[in-house]
Amino acid sequence: MRGIYESIAADLHTDIRLNTPVAAIAHDEQGAQVTLADGGIERADAVILTAPLGALSNLSFTPALPAKAQEVVDAGWNCTGFKIWIKIRGHHSFIATAPTGHPIAMARSEYFLDDDTTILVGFGPDRTKIDWDDRDQIQEIVSRWRPDLEVIEATSHDWGGDRWTGQTWATPRSGQFLEGWSLFRGTDTRLRFAGADWAKGWNGVVVDGAIESGITTARGLIDEFRTA
Ligand SMILES: Cc1cc2nc3c(=O)[nH]c(=O)nc-3n(C[C@H](O)[C@H](O)[C@H](O)COP(=O)(O)OP(=O)(O)OC[C@H]3O[C@@H](n4cnc5c(N)ncnc54)[C@H](O)[C@@H]3O)c2cc1C
Repeated sequence: MRGIYESIAADLHTDIRLNTPVAAIAHDEQGAQVTLADGGIERADAVILTAPLGALSNLSFTPALPAKAQEVVDAGWNCTGFKIWIKIRGHHSFIATAPTGHPIAMARSEYFLDDDTTILVGFGPDRTKIDWDDRDQIQEIVSRWRPDLEVIEATSHDWGGDRWTGQTWATPRSGQFLEGWSLFRGTDTRLRFAGADWAKGWNGVVVDGAIESGITTARGLIDEFRTA
């Protein structure tokens, strides 16, 4: 990942500002104006917005998003899950799945460490059904598969509760495949959406989709500028 983002950054001929939340975007056929959370204002010929759907409710748009697109923002994607890292004692080659109702649906050995421990990676469907900081709870879950495994610690990041993400993998709800991501690919104004959530290929779940939609959206704008 570092290699990818450092290469993308090296292609840019402009500043990169981290930790600079955007609060509002005004847009029309000629350009766009971005208002930062600290009150700063930036004007541009175009704005490509790559915030995921789960973070769009932090932003206000002028003109407002079309009603059907706003409905998708309000509903969010159907991605309430989590990824968890679990360190266990000893080296164990392990893979397990579980039926609906089990907090962790799938887990497997990912790294064997020199201190005679193994790190498992796991995935579950509902972040509210687990406390990844509670070693005893994670031990109980792992013991349902293998009672001989000793959990040392576990951790995760609460992507669903993170204000700047608000979701994990952008899996559409029923109905959102046709009335969902495609509603954000309009080109009526100079506000464009890009990122994994709006990708045509590898939509939502992987970095490839974010790169695809970033490249195609940026190149589409470059073509527009050339012919303007
Ligand atoms: C737990 C987990 C594991 C994953 N594992 C993999 C994997 O192994 N392989 C893989 O290919 N993909 C994986 N993915 C998917 C991958 O992370 C995403 O597809 C990818 O990060 C999407 O990139 P993006 O640029 O579209 O959006 P993001 O990476 O979400 O970037 C959006 C950025 O916008 C910023 N932002 C949001 N709101 C604002 C605002 N108002 N102002 C300013 N900035 C804002 C956010 O802080 C964030 O930096 C995983 C995702 C999760 C959640």
